Amino acid sequence: MTAPAVFPLPATAYTLPLLAPFRGLTDRRGMIIHGRSPGEFSPFAEYTQEQDARWLVAAVEAALDDDPGPGSPVTSNAIVADVPDERLGEAVEQVLTGTGCRTVKLKVGGRSTGDELHRVSTAARAARGVVDDVRLRLDGNGRFGLDDAREFLVALSWADIPVEYVEQPCDSLRDMQVLHGDTDIPLAVDEGIRRDRSFDDLAAAADVAILKVAPLGGLAAAAELAASLPLPVVVSGAAESGIGVGRDAVGAARFGAPDRAHGLGTGTLLAADLTAHPVVPIDGVVAASRAPVDGDALARAADLVSDAERVTWRQRLDDAWGRALDLGLVGDEMLAELGALA
Ligand SMILES: [Mg+2]
Repeated sequence: MTAPAVFPLPATAYTLPLLAPFRGLTDRRGMIIHGRSPGEFSPFAEYTQEQDARWLVAAVEAALDDDPGPGSPVTSNAIVADVPDERLGEAVEQVLTGTGCRTVKLKVGGRSTGDELHRVSTAARAARGVVDDVRLRLDGNGRFGLDDAREFLVALSWADIPVEYVEQPCDSLRDMQVLHGDTDIPLAVDEGIRRDRSFDDLAAAADVAILKVAPLGGLAAAAELAASLPLPVVVSGAAESGIGVGRDAVGAARFGAPDRAHGLGTGTLLAADLTAHPVVPIDGVVAASRAPVDGDALARAADLVSDAERVTWRQRLDDAWGRALDLGLVGDEMLAELGALA
């Protein structure tokens, strides 16, 4: 079958403002692909074409699938935006009260050990004020050097802080292995999974694997990976709209560790969503269900995109499509279904 040179389905570019900065961003941008169901294509600005290609395959998989998911409740963590130290306690309290979550995730890294510990202690104190047995997830995004990471983990182990795990403190899996041998604090691997794609030594580097459905190329690819990993899997969104988060929740219900909270709480960062109701944890859970796009909400979000940006997004979509074809990521079945729909 000959594949079309440009992506064959219609798509709408959107911008969703954030309530507070996250990952250095003040809004979340992407496209909704219109198929049998909506598919979200929202790779981050710095992503490579190959990363875009995987994300697009995940969006196409969603667009071709009209199964809304089982609807079962999935436990989620809450997430804290990038707030300054003086507002951290208040932000932690607010997000735990608002979502009913019992686990809260906080970004760490880029400060002295003393400052990191102060920040984490502030968050822990505020969190315990809301939930007695709260657990903290500390995400380093690979920003610690090995020595700094060691120092941070030692400081954490002496402080009375309920840490569930520290996520990807160091960038390299080799450093993670050294660290893992040195500490009793559980570690999780996130970026290392997507980048290294070799998992033989993973259990020597971490206790938990974080799988992000969109960057891994969709539910089928993530499920296959989950089945091959020697670690319990926490499924996490990529700060997507409710369209993406709903799909991620379906993944968490299908192949996530049943006794863990999953990373489905980023909807609280958005000032507006693309679904009729925001997809956020309520009483600590998100339904494993894909909601439809709300037409008015998408129209409002599309109005925030300039004509020039719209052209840029369409080009990025077509480039990702070309790359996905080159990489052999689009199977014959997917191609045939797209052909039938277009
Ligand atoms: Mg992470």
